[in-house]
Amino acid sequence: MAEYHDYMVRAIAADQQIRAFAVTTRDLVEYARKAHDTWPVATAALGRTMSGALMMSDMLKNDDDLLTVQFAGDGPLGGVTVTADHHGNVKGYVKNPHVDLPLKKDGHLDVGKAVGKGTLTVIRDLDLKNTYNGQVAIHSGEIADDLTHYFAESEQVPSSVGLGVLVDTDHSVKKAGGFIVQLMPFTTDETISRLEKNLKDIPYVTEMLEQGMTPEDMLRRVLQGFDVQFTGTNPVQFHCNCSKERVGRALMLIGEVELTSLIEEKKDVELSCQFCGRRYTFTIPELEALREQGRVQRRADLKRDN
Ligand SMILES: [Zn+2]
Repeated sequence: MAEYHDYMVRAIAADQQIRAFAVTTRDLVEYARKAHDTWPVATAALGRTMSGALMMSDMLKNDDDLLTVQFAGDGPLGGVTVTADHHGNVKGYVKNPHVDLPLKKDGHLDVGKAVGKGTLTVIRDLDLKNTYNGQVAIHSGEIADDLTHYFAESEQVPSSVGLGVLVDTDHSVKKAGGFIVQLMPFTTDETISRLEKNLKDIPYVTEMLEQGMTPEDMLRRVLQGFDVQFTGTNPVQFHCNCSKERVGRALMLIGEVELTSLIEEKKDVELSCQFCGRRYTFTIPELEALREQGRVQRRADLKRDN
């Protein structure tokens, strides 16, 4: 795997009335682009969602907690799914990576149209057993704007989310990253109006990144005039925990009849992981072993049910 330079910072400001996160994700978005062969507007949608999910996963409390962000829209991308953990690992995919749309009038990729209308769901897997879902309507499909609405509507936390992916002329990822700024319940009106003014004046995230600004620089810019204290930093990366065993288990679950018909075709079966594109090949003897494993498991299930 290539050497990564991506990282996230977190900060507090204005006597802890504000908490903030910022991230640079160029390398991991480029990794995802290559893994899924995404075209520019898909690269932008996936890259923005991965950057946002990484910062949101930093708000999780426990080591094993997971956060999934899912855009189920009616646009040509057919949906965006991203999962991030508490250790800076993220993985994700879009259903249709080969989407091409005209640029918007302002020259930006039309992520909103590519995502379309539908629902945004945020799923938190906590303590290895509890799952919490929050769901809102997709607002514009531009991702950052939708996450801002999600925080307001579903979590009642006033937030501002900025995300950007700059795609180069050869379609590789030039810059990617973003920030999240959130207000705590005891924030004064004075702090709110100053922050609102800052947010109105800041350039697009892609412009700040293009100027060479680091995550720290972006937060200093967004939080101009406040005293900003950085409270931590950690690397972030694209990481998928798939394995042949996991993919095999999923294959086993398609059922005996389907497995038998695959075996009768006498050809190896190749499956790829949705999240990272890694390919796994199953030979006929391996498929037969999976079928047998399925039988054993069904017998065990029957016994238990009786
Ligand atoms: Zn995978």
